[in-house]
Amino acid sequence: MSNRIDTLEATLAVLKRLEKKGVRSVYLDGVEIPIDTAPGVASAAPVSVAAASVAASPETVAGLADLAKTVSVCTRCALHATRKQTVFGVGNPRAKLMFIGEAPGADEDAKGEPFVGRAGQLLNKIIAAMGMTREEVYIGNILKCRPPQNRDPLPSEVECCEEYLRAQIALIQPKYICALGRIAAHWLLKTEAPLGAMREQIHTYEGIPVVVTYHPAALLRNPGFKAPCWEDMKKLMALLKDA
Ligand code: URA
Repeated sequence: MSNRIDTLEATLAVLKRLEKKGVRSVYLDGVEIPIDTAPGVASAAPVSVAAASVAASPETVAGLADLAKTVSVCTRCALHATRKQTVFGVGNPRAKLMFIGEAPGADEDAKGEPFVGRAGQLLNKIIAAMGMTREEVYIGNILKCRPPQNRDPLPSEVECCEEYLRAQIALIQPKYICALGRIAAHWLLKTEAPLGAMREQIHTYEGIPVVVTYHPAALLRNPGFKAPCWEDMKKLMALLKDA
């Protein structure tokens, strides 16, 4: 049943092999489904979880664009000197579900988009297993710039950056937030509780319910975390059904 993620990974591997052999589509119950396994593209069709959102207002879209512009030239902390570019966030400006990670890594710093490396590909699979697409949710980070050597964010860096995340969340107004990993949860929720304890409760950030789960990079290092992560995602899916 983590195993939904594992099954998706196995299915994707089969589809990739078929695609390599020149197969362009498969048939499921007589319906032709085109094969497109391009990285970063979630492969599952959106299902009935009520996570698709209403159209974003022009004010939200403009507010996010303004904020991204401000962030792009930010020099509040020393990370501006070592970044290639800022990593603002990506997704639906009116998403019902927002994932929040820790900080960009090397791939994200190079691309200017959160969660595009290996951990990001796993996050895409988790989102697909939930019946959604990356485009339907919103993905951001506590820090908008990469800490050198991917070290943990410093308190002073988080202090400089948190106004941006607060403003971003206020514009998007997600119904639920999912904090990815201990560090994201600590900074978002201002607690030092262990991840296991944080997973047991639904927290709130500015009145928005927050579910805490493992960081996808932790799942890559320890596949045993996939099952409890999937339990957390099922909790979120149940909540989103009524959102
Ligand atoms: N890890 C994170 O926490 N955020 C990213 O954007 C990428 C990896």
